[in-house]
Amino acid sequence: MATKYIFVTGGVASSLGKGIIAASLARLLKARGYSVTNQKLDPYINIDPGTLNPYEHGECYVTEDGAETDLDLGHYERFTGVPTSQANNVTTGRIYKNVIEKERRGDFLGKTVQVIPHITNEIKDRITALGNTGNYEFVITEIGGTVGDIESYPFVEAVRQLKWALGNNCIVIHLTYIPYLAAAGELKTKPTQHSVKALQQQGVQPDIIVCRTEKPLTRSVREKIGLFCNITGDCVIEDGDVSSIYEVPIKMRDEKLDVQVLNKLNVPLKNEIDLTKWEAFLYRLHNPEKEVNIALVGKYVELPDAYKSISEAFIHAGAELRCKVKVRYVNSEQLNEENITERLQGITGILVAPGFGTRGIEGKIMAVRYARENKIPFFGICLGMQCAVVEFARNVLGYADAHSVEIAPSTTHPVINMMEEQKNISNMGGTMRLGAYPCRLEKGSKAYEIYGTEMISERHRHRYEFNNQYIDEFRKAGMIPTGFNPETGLVEIVEIPEHPYFVASQFHPEYKSTVMHPHPLFIAFVKAAMNFRANQ
Ligand code: GLN
Repeated sequence: MATKYIFVTGGVASSLGKGIIAASLARLLKARGYSVTNQKLDPYINIDPGTLNPYEHGECYVTEDGAETDLDLGHYERFTGVPTSQANNVTTGRIYKNVIEKERRGDFLGKTVQVIPHITNEIKDRITALGNTGNYEFVITEIGGTVGDIESYPFVEAVRQLKWALGNNCIVIHLTYIPYLAAAGELKTKPTQHSVKALQQQGVQPDIIVCRTEKPLTRSVREKIGLFCNITGDCVIEDGDVSSIYEVPIKMRDEKLDVQVLNKLNVPLKNEIDLTKWEAFLYRLHNPEKEVNIALVGKYVELPDAYKSISEAFIHAGAELRCKVKVRYVNSEQLNEENITERLQGITGILVAPGFGTRGIEGKIMAVRYARENKIPFFGICLGMQCAVVEFARNVLGYADAHSVEIAPSTTHPVINMMEEQKNISNMGGTMRLGAYPCRLEKGSKAYEIYGTEMISERHRHRYEFNNQYIDEFRKAGMIPTGFNPETGLVEIVEIPEHPYFVASQFHPEYKSTVMHPHPLFIAFVKAAMNFRANQ
């Protein structure tokens, strides 16, 4: 079968959940027995979101091959279990960079290089490259932003050209918002009509319209949207409010989104959809028997999207254990000796989050100390592990000025140091230790017990590392490195066996947690938090 291309565009408002709709559709097509991949095209000029402050765009998600990508790729992986890569996230910056490099090489010699056709060709190449791998029957491409934004014009134009060229092998799904006006007691379709008009003005006719709405869409509302937008009423899909994003695949199945998509593309429905396991997950999620309160200590707490993969990993692990994981976001910048007990009141587990730079660092180190001394289950991720190492060096080894050289370059005890190969790099974009690396676990360690295997692979995103010169001192004093990179000997995990649960990793386990495969480190941590409560 020729690869089918499905585009997801958005209108009326941002944050309607295009990524969730795209991921849910992928889940349904996969359940029908098709191979699917999701792609996100981002209209901003950064080459990738790696250099963006999380306040700008939420978390930066890291793929196996070390691409720093949009957080929607996290949704794709969590919903489908299909790994993504650099090819699955393309920004305007990357498109232009490539075109300009080609121009400098002389690839367009003699020609004026223009948005159409050169930029649009580059966009189309990035889309079809996924289909040309031969690995996927469906490529679902989400266009970031909303239709009508100046910066998304070239993307929509590329969609128009592809739709023309691919004919029946390509469809466009447009996601819009249908506001409910309480005063009129009515759902209003006009914004949707306008947004579809904007799309049509750019030469693109949507095939299916998915409507975010707080109230059910009546038949007549569907018919009305269909009439104004040149589609049939059964191609108007209701996307109502749900208590969890993981309900959306079920909703879309009930609304027959996948059936409409397959019909439009002239593809057989193939298998009946079996979402039994997914529904069992939802049942466990909505029917918890216990509850834990976890403190997530970080500096981006006003914007939970900054820690998206972590909060989702807690949802997966909580459902697995039938335990509601309540995450309390604790601002590390505001933590001090006077308020820490009050801020962490009732907490049964402390996670110190990943991050960069000095802001809020002492609060994170204080939170580690609080967890270590009060024997509260502790989980440190990346900078969180580095803080755990610094805290131990200061308060157990007695090195008062111990620090990471990221924060204190002239510390006399650089327990977290810069890797040799990082020292001569001055560019900030894409230059960290990124992506999947193998890790060997020490037999008899907690990590080994949790993973149940010796060799694991996890994803990284950092410049600084545990300084192996201190390894023996840490070991003797009770903080044990238990996971190592087999080639370089870099420390990937530390634990304190004397503590009921103290495990920290240099890598980011949260990127690999999915609905169907909750991450063992999150499960183990939540379990420890449940036990801590039971012992109180
Ligand atoms: N800032 C630290 C480093 O670069 C940790 C990074 C992180 O937490 N992702 O090593």
